Amino acid sequence: MDHLDLLIDLHRDGERQGPGGDAETELALQLAGVDRAAPLKLADVGCGTGASTLLLARLLPNARITAVDRLPEFLAVLEGRARQQGVAGAITPCAVSMDNLPFADGELDVIWSEGAIYNIGFARGIAEWRRFLKPGGVLVVSEITWTTASRPADLQRHWQTEYPEIDLASTKIGQLEQHGYAPIGYVVLPHHCWLDHYYRPLQARFDAFLRRHGHSEAARAIVSAEEHEIQLYETHGSHFGYGMYVARRSERPRLLGS
Ligand code: SAH
Repeated sequence: MDHLDLLIDLHRDGERQGPGGDAETELALQLAGVDRAAPLKLADVGCGTGASTLLLARLLPNARITAVDRLPEFLAVLEGRARQQGVAGAITPCAVSMDNLPFADGELDVIWSEGAIYNIGFARGIAEWRRFLKPGGVLVVSEITWTTASRPADLQRHWQTEYPEIDLASTKIGQLEQHGYAPIGYVVLPHHCWLDHYYRPLQARFDAFLRRHGHSEAARAIVSAEEHEIQLYETHGSHFGYGMYVARRSERPRLLGS
């Protein structure tokens, strides 16, 4: 089993594959200001096994949601859950990469993406996805964010290697403005979205995961990388978090004189 297969095996049984929470997803939906009864077209990009997709399908009874993830294994779990919850008819799974989305220009009312845009980078993602939104359509995206103006050197070094685009909310909001969005909301995920909803359930799966793979070196390396990440958050979680950014598609700013 290669590295990706092992990661899939560890994460497939999780309710979510990144920090988040139902209350925070619903709060972002409120900030987005959408009409919940409207026949909205949404895409949930990098949806994993569907934590946000399934909640959105329940909260938006007339919406049609395309659930996008590059891993068919996660989409299969999402489909099973959708059937159990009676919302399968509203969700179309779509196994494509987020850098090659299959939508027409102006097709979507809402693009949703929790804990996933970092895979192509925030600036690139918001720039490339904008055209799929209707004018006035809304982007809701969560992104790793510095929550303090200065921070310990070892933490800075870690993220400079892992994801150099990590930055302050002011920078992310400025990027949204530069790329033709009007920011309308920003919230930081509370600690329990990381610890209780994501890391603790993940840790509870480590033993069975290691047993399934005979404590192989590759499986142990994955657990130890996850443990390192968890420890980093436990130690330094006051300096970084996930920001949820809510922004409406606006006209692009015109350069003076052009
Ligand atoms: N939104 C979910 C999953 C977050 S984890 C949640 O909050 O629980 C990030 C997800 O992005 C994973 O499911 C991963 O398979 C997916 N992903 C990674 N790279 C991708 C890409 N290039 N295109 C589409 N999905 C991708």
